[in-house]
Amino acid sequence: MSNKHYINLKNELRKEKFVQKEYEVSFESLDLPEEYSSSEDVKVNLYIIKEKNGYAVSMNFKSDVQVECSRCLEPFNMDLSGTSNVFLSTKKLESGKLGSGDLDTQYLEDEEKFDLNDFIREEILVKTPMKPLCDENCKGICPICGANKNENPCDCEKKEKRKNSPFAKLQKLLEGKQK
Ligand SMILES: [Zn+2]
Ligand SMILES: [Zn+2]
Repeated sequence: MSNKHYINLKNELRKEKFVQKEYEVSFESLDLPEEYSSSEDVKVNLYIIKEKNGYAVSMNFKSDVQVECSRCLEPFNMDLSGTSNVFLSTKKLESGKLGSGDLDTQYLEDEEKFDLNDFIREEILVKTPMKPLCDENCKGICPICGANKNENPCDCEKKEKRKNSPFAKLQKLLEGKQK
């Protein structure tokens, strides 16, 4: 579990203006919410450039994550690989004056202890859609019988609709009259 990666940016970039680093971070060490799982480590490529008031970080990462579909609740694999460009500012950010250009800017509290795991976790959370779907056309779960409608299409809702339609009620009334 002690698979934390802290990077001493100050040291790493004391002489160099630019460094490139590769990491393999165990998925558990990212401490993500329990809906997330993965059998693979997260592979990370970091490019760091020293700037006047901080560090420009470009992170390329590869991660195949299992999350729960928000409709049918089945776990499915989602590719969350991608690139994140973040400016780590060593100066406290003034509100309203955010960012350099269109770079996402974060305040870096300790440049001798940049927490890579934390950084990756945030990026994975940001990249996960609010309502992950195993498939755009996922049919979800039947609210009546609880079946996963992708696997067991049922006609509960149709039946329910028929039962509640005004014509069904009318039918009943008419039946009652005939008696
Ligand atoms: Zn689904
Ligand atoms: Zn049903």
